[in-house]
Amino acid sequence: MPYSERTGNSEIGRNPGKLSTWRQTGRPVEIRYDCGEMQWLWCWRCKTEMPMLDEVEYLEVYRLYGECMSATKEFRQRWGIPLEGMEREMRFKPLLDRYEQMTGMTETNPNAVMHHRLSLYGPPCESCGKPLRSPKAKLCGSCMAPRT
Ligand SMILES: [Zn+2]
Ligand SMILES: [Zn+2]
Repeated sequence: MPYSERTGNSEIGRNPGKLSTWRQTGRPVEIRYDCGEMQWLWCWRCKTEMPMLDEVEYLEVYRLYGECMSATKEFRQRWGIPLEGMEREMRFKPLLDRYEQMTGMTETNPNAVMHHRLSLYGPPCESCGKPLRSPKAKLCGSCMAPRT
């Protein structure tokens, strides 16, 4: 992708200063789905902390995911994806590139991107601090402490 296109892309609807500051916010974990800052949460699927997408970011990525899935001829031509013999990484490149732009995290698995959605996770466990596996979880999937 030409440099100018990348730059143009990353600035649409996004405060360019945000990405440089997210790492410095050492505030305690709060559930703030719409705060606009990248949040890192423990992901029980990846077994590590991962950047989580808020709803606005997720919607954009979700739309790209759908387009990558169908990978129409127009779509492939737009992104320069070959029509034959597509690897998964190649096919989902627009999605993975966008995730990297948003989070600074290089990801090669489109399915991992799709489960890094902030609203899928519950509040932090009061015992171990890891996020509950869903907003409705009754106990912590990591330490099995019941939700209080
Ligand atoms: Zn994950
Ligand atoms: Zn716990």
